[in-house]
Amino acid sequence: MSNPGAVAAASPSKPYLTPYSAEVIDLPLVFERVAGVPWLTYTDALPQDRMFGVLWARCGIGRGGKILWPMVHTLRQRRCMLKRLCRVCGQSAADPGEPDRTWWIIPSPPPGGLPATWPATSPPTCKACIAVALGACPHLRHGSPVVCTVGAYGPVGVLGNLYGEDNGRAVETQHQIGIGLDEPHLFRRALATQLIVQLNDLRPADVLVS
Ligand SMILES: [Zn+2]
Repeated sequence: MSNPGAVAAASPSKPYLTPYSAEVIDLPLVFERVAGVPWLTYTDALPQDRMFGVLWARCGIGRGGKILWPMVHTLRQRRCMLKRLCRVCGQSAADPGEPDRTWWIIPSPPPGGLPATWPATSPPTCKACIAVALGACPHLRHGSPVVCTVGAYGPVGVLGNLYGEDNGRAVETQHQIGIGLDEPHLFRRALATQLIVQLNDLRPADVLVS
């Protein structure tokens, strides 16, 4: 897969995770019969269009045009999750002192403190970007975010849209629902837009926020 965006172009005012208008591309979706069963695919499908058995929304790269707040760039979100990269700067979000742990902001943890595990669609935030993320992200400014480090984590599902067939066309029937990787019966109708990971061993972290 190509590198979805140059890290050097990211900055606090231009977060790595955020898409740009020139990165929005047409999705030539269609249902194709596989052993008689309709599967959502692209008219010009490529092997890299699927991961974890699910079809993924395509996006352009290059960060041209206007920033599309508050949307999420599908490929950069997935890359952040799989490679432990910061949502703001695109660099490693690993803790320099404990490389096995990753810095993360939990936007709205449940009352009573951090849970033992937590599903997340929002990628890590490196220690250096914590302050700017807390100040700049609307969903963090208006919530009760908790800064923490997490231990091992892994993919458990995708956030995506479900499609059905209507007179030969692929039409969206459900928008932005969670689909577990243990729900393969939904894969054939799904278009993934974000990766969901399960965070483990969450520990509150002290970080100076000016
Ligand atoms: Zn960062």
